[in-house]
Amino acid sequence: MKKRKIRCYLAYCDAGGIFNNEVVYTASEGYRIELATCIKCGAILVLDRENPQTAEQSLESLVDGAMCPVCGCDLSESIRLYPETFRGKGGHLGSFTPPKIIPPDSESHVIEVWEIIPSSPR
Ligand SMILES: [Zn+2]
Repeated sequence: MKKRKIRCYLAYCDAGGIFNNEVVYTASEGYRIELATCIKCGAILVLDRENPQTAEQSLESLVDGAMCPVCGCDLSESIRLYPETFRGKGGHLGSFTPPKIIPPDSESHVIEVWEIIPSSPR
């Protein structure tokens, strides 16, 4: 996997009774990307759904056989859609629903996350 820059917004929410867990979410700016996370370590990954190779496949099947680039675990077991599921402080899992109203561009940040690149069709 390689890293890719994405534009996102920051939010804070609670998980497992602990407040101020930082989460990020993206605005769909006419192109489709999906975020995912490894619930073992909290790594954020991005999936480009514009790529015809990824469009039809489930998240789990796309990472079949892949290891988390951060903690090395089996991603097909630890991957979840993000930030619908996220790993907060102390390993507590939380859930965040991005707001319908996207903040202005001036509040966005650019971060680097790991991109899930589909292996060639078998
Ligand atoms: Zn991991």
